[in-house]
Amino acid sequence: CFCQVTGTLDDCACDVETIDRFNNKEIFPKLQKLLSSDYFRFYKVNLNNPCPFWTDHSQCGLKYCAVKPCTPGEVPEGLKSSSYKVLLSHIVYITRFVVGGFLSLNVSPCSDETRQALQEWKKHDDESDRFCMLDDVDSPESQYVDLLLNPERFTGYKGPEAWRIWNSIYEENCLCVEKRAFFRLISGLHASINIHLSARYLLDENWFEMKWGHNVSEFQLRFDKELTEGEGPKRLRNLYFLYLIELRALAKILPYFERPAFHLYTGQPTEDNEKKKLLLELLHMAKSFPLHFDETALFAGNKKEAIKLKEDFKLTFKNISRVMDCVECFKCRLWGKLQTQGLGTALKILFSERQIEAMPNTSNTNPSFQLSRQEIVSLFNAFGRISTSVRELDNFRSLLSNLKQ
Ligand code: FAD
Repeated sequence: CFCQVTGTLDDCACDVETIDRFNNKEIFPKLQKLLSSDYFRFYKVNLNNPCPFWTDHSQCGLKYCAVKPCTPGEVPEGLKSSSYKVLLSHIVYITRFVVGGFLSLNVSPCSDETRQALQEWKKHDDESDRFCMLDDVDSPESQYVDLLLNPERFTGYKGPEAWRIWNSIYEENCLCVEKRAFFRLISGLHASINIHLSARYLLDENWFEMKWGHNVSEFQLRFDKELTEGEGPKRLRNLYFLYLIELRALAKILPYFERPAFHLYTGQPTEDNEKKKLLLELLHMAKSFPLHFDETALFAGNKKEAIKLKEDFKLTFKNISRVMDCVECFKCRLWGKLQTQGLGTALKILFSERQIEAMPNTSNTNPSFQLSRQEIVSLFNAFGRISTSVRELDNFRSLLSNLKQ
C-alpha cells in the first residue's frame, strides 16, 4: 500500500513499525479515555481575535465550519472557578513578595502602580517562556468549547483562502536556523489535519441525517505517491516525526505532573484523582518507549547557537499561532489553534529541560516551570490528534487492501 510507510525515520533511531505498534495498542486507547474526561474536553478559546496579518478575509459561511460554544450550565463549576484559583494564587504570591520585602527592608509598601507593574512583569516572564500566543482566557470574548461535540473533521474549507494560510505558515520557515526540523513539524501537522478530514468525511447528507466516514479516494488523492509526485509518503513520514517530538515532550514532563500539588481540578475529587492516575500511567508509558527521539542531536551546537535556535523557534511558532486567527473556518481555527498551542507547549518542554529537572519534588505550588491549564489541555489534545492519525493510517490500509481483494 502506498500509505505503508516503513523503516527508520531520518534523524531518529526509530522505525515506523515500532511507533504503529506502540501507539495503536498501548497509547491510543488510554489517551482516548483521558481526553473524554471533563478536564480535557472543555477548552477555553477566543475564536474572535482579529487577524493580525491581512484585512481582506471573510468568514466561512459553510455550516460545517461552525463551532458550538458551551452554555454556562454545561461547564463543570470547578473548571469555571479554577482560573480564579490560579489568579488568586498569583495574588497571594505577589502579596507575600511585597509584604515580605516591606518587612525585611522596612520600606513603604508598594503602590498600586508598582503592584500592577509586578503583575505585568510576571505576565511578561510567562510570555517570554512560551512558543505560542495563548488567548486571554479571562477575556469576555473567550468561551468554553466542548471538543467532543465539535470534532475535527471534513468542513469543506478549501481553495485560495486555505492555501494562503498554509503558504504563510510554510513561509515562516525562512526565519529558522533548523529549517528541516521546522518544515517536518508543520508538514506533519498538515498531514494529520488532512488525514482527519479524509477519515471523517461527509459521505452523505439528507433531511434526516448526515453520514460521516472514511473517504478512501480523498485519502488517496492526498497521499498516494503516484498522485502527489512522490510527496505523499514523505508527508506521512513527517507525521511520525511530529509524533516522536510530542511523545518525547510527554516523557520529559512527567516530574511536573507527579508533584502531589498538581491536580486535574474540575471540582469532582474522585473523578479528578482517577484521571490524574490515568494521566500518570500514560506518561510512564510514554517514558518507557524504547526508541525515543534524541532532541539533543537535532538541536545540537554550541551554547550560543542553541540559544539562537530557541529564540528562532519561539518567534516562528508565535507567528504561526497568530496566523491561526486568520483561518476563516471556525472549526478549522479551533483545532488549528489547539494544535499549534499543543506543539508550542511540547517545544517549551523540550527546551526547558534544566528547569524541569530543578523542580523540587515537594508540595511546592510555585515551581520555576509552569504550565497553564490551556497549555496542558492543548498539549494532550494535540498529541491525541496525531495519535488518532497514526491509528487512522491503519484503518486506511485495511480499507485499501479490502478494495484490492
Ligand atoms: P492543501 O491541503 O490546502 O495543501 C496546499 C498545498 O500544500 C498542496 O498543494 C501541497 O503542495 C502542499 N501540502 C499538502 N499537504 C502537505 C504536507 N503534509 N506537507 C507539505 N506540504 C503539503 N479542512 C477540513 O475539512 N477540516 C478541517 O478541520 C481543516 N482544518 C484546517 C486547519 C487549518 C489551520 C488550515 C489552514 C486548513 C484546514 N482545513 C481543514 C483545510 C485543508 O487542510 C485543506 O487546505 C483543504 O482541504 C484543501 O486541500 P488541497 O488539496 O487544496 O491542499
